[in-house]
Amino acid sequence: MPELPEVEHAVRRLRVALVGRAIVRARALHRSLRRSMTPARLRSLAGRTVREVSRRGKHQLLHLDSGALLHVHFRMTGDWEWHATGAPSPAHVRFALELDDATTVVLSDSRALATVAFVRGVADLPALGPEADDPTLTADWLRAALRGRRGAIKTVLLDQRLLAGIGNIYASEALWHAQLSPRASAASLAPARVTRLLAGIRKALARGMAREGRHEEGESHEFLVYDREGAPCHRCGAAIRRLVQGQRSTYWCPRCQRV
Ligand SMILES: [Zn+2]
Repeated sequence: MPELPEVEHAVRRLRVALVGRAIVRARALHRSLRRSMTPARLRSLAGRTVREVSRRGKHQLLHLDSGALLHVHFRMTGDWEWHATGAPSPAHVRFALELDDATTVVLSDSRALATVAFVRGVADLPALGPEADDPTLTADWLRAALRGRRGAIKTVLLDQRLLAGIGNIYASEALWHAQLSPRASAASLAPARVTRLLAGIRKALARGMAREGRHEEGESHEFLVYDREGAPCHRCGAAIRRLVQGQRSTYWCPRCQRV
């Protein structure tokens, strides 16, 4: 599932293709989008120029010259691709924007869970905490934000109202960097551990951004702990374990992430 680094990278690529371009035709190609993107709404996109593409957490916003805002969320498997208008579309295309430079930007999504809809503003998005990569966040702020939160730190980190942009992958990665147990109680983390957690979140996201950059060059890069059950920990060599928390898989090192 795309998280902050993947969505940020997608937004940067989309900006290059879209900003300053006029939309010639918009099409919804899957029934999952036909309710939010009615024929009249699709027609309203024709002739509009895209002024900016922005990101808030895992949400993408296309700002049109009419003042309208088009909200896109990738959910599980969404991504942007583009091709020359008229060329065969890639598989699993759900939404397409034909542009005035004879290219077509498409939302491809094998699971068809991605959403596209007009919103009036950021206030229409679900409640979101600060951006997880916000450099102005402090350990004191995070400690206060965790106070009163019930449950294990791994599960609490997935709440977009705490920090926007962290999902299942980067929560595991951040806790591995911080050498914190995913089962530790979020509300009772000692100050030194909260400091380590914030540093771990930053390391995980920075590594994710770098990984996305290299991904484009065709290299494959695995995560440090996510999806590595049974493989040796990159820090201590112990076998990585998987546990299920809130119906989501958590990957962790039982030796260097003790409670
Ligand atoms: Zn380890």
